[in-house]
This record gives sequence, C-alpha cells and structure tokens, in this order.
Amino acid sequence: MSMNQSGWRPEMNAADGTSAAPTATGNRALMLEEPLIFEIGGTDRTGVDFSEAPDFTSRLGGMERSEPIGLPGLSEQETVRHYTRLSRQNYAIDLGLFPLGSCTMKHNPRLNEKVARMPGFADVHPLAPTATVQGALAVIHQLGEWLKTLTGMPAVAMSPKAGAHGELCGLLAIRAALVARGDARQVVLVPESAHGTNPATAAFCGYKVEDIPATPEGRVDLAALKARLGSDVAAVMITNPNTCGLFERDMKAISDAVHAAGAFVYCDGANFNAIVGRVRPGDLGVDAMHINLHKTFSTPHGGGGPGSGPVVLSEALAPFAPLPFVEKDEDGLFHLIEEETAGEHHAANFGRMVAFHGQMGMFTRALTYILSHGADGLRQVAEDAVLNANYILRSLEDVLDAPFGSSGPCMHEALFSDKGMAEGFSTLDVAKGLIDEGYHPMTMYFPLVVHGAMLIEPTETESKAALDQFIMALRSVAERAKAGDDALKGAPWFAPRRRLDETLAARKPVLNWEDPALAEVQAAE
Ligand SMILES: *Cc1c(COP(=O)(O)O)cnc(C)c1O
Repeated sequence: MSMNQSGWRPEMNAADGTSAAPTATGNRALMLEEPLIFEIGGTDRTGVDFSEAPDFTSRLGGMERSEPIGLPGLSEQETVRHYTRLSRQNYAIDLGLFPLGSCTMKHNPRLNEKVARMPGFADVHPLAPTATVQGALAVIHQLGEWLKTLTGMPAVAMSPKAGAHGELCGLLAIRAALVARGDARQVVLVPESAHGTNPATAAFCGYKVEDIPATPEGRVDLAALKARLGSDVAAVMITNPNTCGLFERDMKAISDAVHAAGAFVYCDGANFNAIVGRVRPGDLGVDAMHINLHKTFSTPHGGGGPGSGPVVLSEALAPFAPLPFVEKDEDGLFHLIEEETAGEHHAANFGRMVAFHGQMGMFTRALTYILSHGADGLRQVAEDAVLNANYILRSLEDVLDAPFGSSGPCMHEALFSDKGMAEGFSTLDVAKGLIDEGYHPMTMYFPLVVHGAMLIEPTETESKAALDQFIMALRSVAERAKAGDDALKGAPWFAPRRRLDETLAARKPVLNWEDPALAEVQAAE
C-alpha cells in the first residue's frame, strides 16, 4: 500500500472500491489534495519583508515573546494557492443549489456586497463618536423600522448576533417582565415541531422544558397545549412555519390561550422568509420573535457565521429590551442608548448581550436586500419560496415518502422520510448519493418527529431549470435507494474523501495537529 504525503491512498477513490491507477501526486486531475498549512509552511519563510523589528521592550515591560510561536510562513503565492485549493474542496451557494432545509441558503445578490463594502460602512469602528457615524446608525434604525413594519410589532432589539442568540434575548426579556411583576414561573413549553435551538435556549435560561406533542398532520396539538397551560408556565416557544415545513394555523388561538394563562408567546421566526409580506406575526399575538437576517434577507452565512438575529418585541416586552439600541431624536439625529443615557424611560432594560451594537455588515446587506425588493418584492420572495418548495414536494412524492404530503401545501421546505427504501438503505445513503451528483445534501434526520427525515429548502432564488435538474438528480438517487443498489452504499465515490465513520467523526474529532518532529523530541525527553 502506498501512502503519499497528503494521506490519500489510491484505493480510497477507486470507483469499484478496490484499486485504481495511482498518481504520483495523489491528485486526480482537478481534484487536488492539499496538506495542512503547518505541513507546508515553515517558520523560516514569510510573504512580506519586515525591516528590523523596533524595540518594544520598554513598552511591553518584559512581557515580550522570547521564542517564536511556530506559525507557518508561506510566500504570497503559496498562501493564495493553499486557500484556493482548499476552497475547491468545498460546496457553496455560488456553485449550485444548496438544499439544506431550515437553513435558507439563498443567493446573496452582489448589490448587497457592493453596499456593504462602502468604506463608510465597512470601516466603521464601534467606538467612533456617534456624531461621526450617523449614516451607520441611520441604517440600523431604518432596518429596525422595516422589521417592525413587516412583523407588525412595536419594538425591536437589533443587537443579537444570530437566531439562537435572538431566542436568548427574547427569553431574557420575558424573564425580566415576569420578575418585574414578581412572578417566578419555571416552565417553558416547546412543541415537538419546534426547532432544536428552542428547548436549548429555554434550558440555558434555567427554565424547565416540557414537550407538547404534534398532531398526526405535523402541527401543534392545541388541545394538549391548552391542557398543560397553568400558573407555572412562563412561555411557549413556537416555530412558525414549523420544522415540518407547515404553517401553524392555530397560532392566534394558541396566543390567546397562552395570554389568558398569564404566559408569553415566543415565536421562532428564523424562517420568516416563508411568510414575509404575507403574514404579520404581531397580528397573531406574538410577544417576541427573532428574525434571521442571514436567512430571510439573504446575507451570506455558513461555517459558523456571521449572522444577525434581531428580535421584535410586543408592547408588554418592549420596556425590557436590551442595551444598546439606536434612537432618533426630533432633529433627526441618531443616538446610541447606553447605560448612561438609558434614563428612566428605559430603566427596565435587562442589560446588554453584546459588547457592541451588532453586525454592521449584515445590517447593510439586509437593508439593501429589503430596499431593492420593496414591499411587493418581499411578498413575492415568500410566494416564490413556497412555490418552489411545493414544486419539489409534488415532483418527488411518487418516489419519496412525504409524511405530511396530505396536510396541504408545504411552506418554504419539503419534508420526506426514508419509508419505502430497500432493506438496509437509509437517508444517509441518499445524502451521500447526492454528493456524487454534485449537490450538498439536504438537512437529514431532522425534524425528529419524522423517521429518516429529509428536509429540503430550495429558496426562491432557484430557477425552474435548476429545480428540475436537482429533482432529476434526487429522483435518480431515491430510485437507487428503493431498488437497493449496492453501489449507492459506497457513495460518495467522487468526493475528496469517501464515506467517513460518522460516529467516530462526531465523538472523536481530531482537531489539533502535532508537529511530528516535536512529538519525537517530546517522546525522547
Ligand atoms: C436557523 C434556525 C435557528 C438558529 O439560527 P442561528 O442563526 O443558526 O442561531 C433557529 N430556529 C430555526 C427555525 C432555524 O431555522
């Protein structure tokens, strides 16, 4: 067995799983292997020329480094090639349709990028005096006004940095409101059809989390919810549209019952993209709802960030909104309301969640997206997102089981299960087959209420031709899973790596690299 420097072995990618003609480099045409930067970089090299280092000794007071810290140095060209090669092993929305359900991987218009790169926005500093950043504050304020109008809610907190962070903001506001009225409620109810971050957030806030079952048609069981409401319930967290891709039609009845029991309604609005311009959550009795700018309003996301999760708040929760926030005075000047400037009017704020105000780059992109679409365009965003998801649902339900296919049209995502696949074949095989077809897999095994779930969200930014090609690819893979095609069990055949041990990869990830030379020295010591 030959093993080249990069760890690729010829048999790893043989189409029949046994052997293949090896190449000397380990590369397979344009599929290029790439070592870690620590394996190719040297501490003796650098991409820039430094003049003699100035003497900082006096300023660092003896804290200056005495030894190099072993950062790999590369020339400029080596650096560019390293990261370009790595980027080619990845999948991106700019390469093709990204069907991850619940994640809303939609095209990010380049106009967004142009605006976000304007120096007045891109180079803004969080500590700049507010008189010098009036334009940036105006963007934050105007975006907030749009979010309030689109949701029909009176207040908004712009500082949360992602969806889950927005949930935390909403629950902290709810807790502050309950504390203010001397009410120590301990329980947060979370329906089975809610997103996984909801129970996590409630638990993180110290609440006891209780499930509310879903009906067979995939929606909240209103009767079960009503039966559980009581004086110990602080809030109900509802994802709408829910993770089965369905609109919670009983939302108003749910809110009325929750309010009658003295509790608050938190709505997970991460998937606002399915209803924006069509439904105002404020009309449904929602008290707090986060909006993922990075989903609904197209700002790019993935790989852990950046995101932005503003939270709209009802009249009852508005006084508890966190600091800081932007306010506009009668003269049209913008102010950042902080601890010192909060005054009596905002005395009930629950504190701050972040060091600085928010994600400027996401604010500029989201507002650009909103202004370039206009109110009627945003409405069409929701309509087309729903239309595209239903096109996928109805085009594939003859080969893939659609557990809620008879519950009516879906919202922005289509949900399938693994029912009907050949013995020994599962959702994982379909996902791996899709990789060979050149697609990122769909969201899988989520939501938990569906066995072997496959959640597909095409978004409104895909053309009919792109949807048809994706449907053709998924249909082919689904048919192979139904027929029990053994070759599918070996997929992916054409990716940079073959099928990994998912359990080991999750339980024992290898996250650090050790210098073999250093390890040798240490072993000898
Ligand atoms: C994406 C998503 C979240 C979490 O948002 P993050 O920005 O990843 O923290 C929460 N709920 C739902 C329904 C989502 O789709």
